[in-house]
Amino acid sequence: MRLVRQAGDERGRVGQGVLSVEGLELRALAEAVGTPVYVYSTAHVRAQYAALDAALAPVPHRIHYSVKANGNLAILALLRSLGAGVDIVSSGELVRARAVGFAGSDVVFSGVGKTREEMRAALAAGVGLLNVESEEELDTLAEVARAEGRTAPIGIRVNPEVTVDTHPYTATGSKGKKFGVPHDEVEALALRAARTKGLRLRGIAMHVGSQIVDVAPFAAGLERLLDIVRRLRAGGVTTLEVLDIGGGLGIRYRESDRPLDVAAYAAAVVPQVRSSGLFLAVEPGRFLVGNAGVLLTRVLYRKKSGGRLIAVIDAGMTDLIRPSHYQAWHEIVVDGAEGRPHVCTDVVGPICESGDFFALDRDLPALEQGDLLVVRGTGAYGFVMTSTYNARPRPPEVLVDGDRFAVVRDRELPDAMLAGEHAAPEWHAAAAAVAT
Ligand SMILES: *Cc1c(COP(=O)(O)O)cnc(C)c1O
Repeated sequence: MRLVRQAGDERGRVGQGVLSVEGLELRALAEAVGTPVYVYSTAHVRAQYAALDAALAPVPHRIHYSVKANGNLAILALLRSLGAGVDIVSSGELVRARAVGFAGSDVVFSGVGKTREEMRAALAAGVGLLNVESEEELDTLAEVARAEGRTAPIGIRVNPEVTVDTHPYTATGSKGKKFGVPHDEVEALALRAARTKGLRLRGIAMHVGSQIVDVAPFAAGLERLLDIVRRLRAGGVTTLEVLDIGGGLGIRYRESDRPLDVAAYAAAVVPQVRSSGLFLAVEPGRFLVGNAGVLLTRVLYRKKSGGRLIAVIDAGMTDLIRPSHYQAWHEIVVDGAEGRPHVCTDVVGPICESGDFFALDRDLPALEQGDLLVVRGTGAYGFVMTSTYNARPRPPEVLVDGDRFAVVRDRELPDAMLAGEHAAPEWHAAAAAVAT
């Protein structure tokens, strides 16, 4: 999103004036709802959706928003209003999607470890596509579908074994990863699926990884999918309708980053998809919401240790785990710090873990107690990866639309966090089945 500075909108180290998202000053928002808090821009989500939708317009397509990037109900409702479908990876996400009015047919169900219960829930909801990732999953799904008297619309998720230049934890489409069916085994499995009662082979799918800024892995993966489609058609399969090329579109986290060029992405994808005659499904998450979000946090204390200047803030790895988990770099902007000298600072959270930091050795305006920090690029894989470690309540989430804001998730209350626990155990005989 655009972070508007009243002293001009130059990114970078100078002019850290009063910061706004859309028409709303963040300092007023932080006063109103407290910190830490996630803030999302509706305008940014709309703009990203429109850009991708327009780029893919030459072929019949649907954008299935990947719920796991940010599953807030208001974000889901916003994307539904724009025409998106969803990509989910659990029945919990199915419940969220249904709660804001998505129909089963709007849903693609991905994920490497769906349980029988999740399969039953998906079939009952009439999910449009279940992407299967192994032979055993395929057999289990067929069994579940037959037992339910239904036919499961399936895709086979291919591991196209392409090399992607991203963090090892977010590379999913390379050899030896747990995701997908190795591409040289897909044809046999798909032919079997096509003959299996209880299954309808609707699609071929891939998801090569996350935060990918080069077009090459998408193009190479898609080439593999199309090769498989050709072989299946030659083998007599007539039910294929969808090419699902996953998500993974990379965004800009820092000024020097090169984001994925949407036009180049579309140019690589569109002609291939058109030649196949199939419907295109894409599953972006981060691309739609990553830069729509900021995390607001305040400086609690400053200290010096071993020659380092350390700022302790009121948000930590429980609120945003990306710096610790992926060594992710997030830009930190200081509200109202215009004209201050810059100092090399460690920005750390209050959690009892040395890995609990947002930035090390960061060039920042000299921080003061109470300063409001804006951690950018936190709309995706931010709130959804929060935890309650150290019995910390989860932060609230706020949606901004022009000069209005709405709290779309309340701050968790410490008392409410005790619900469902039992200090006095209620003992059961060994093998009794109990509800948990
Ligand atoms: C996580 C995931 C996505 C979304 O990834 P982004 O990098 O956020 O676009 C899409 N499809 C599948 C199957 C996923 O697991």
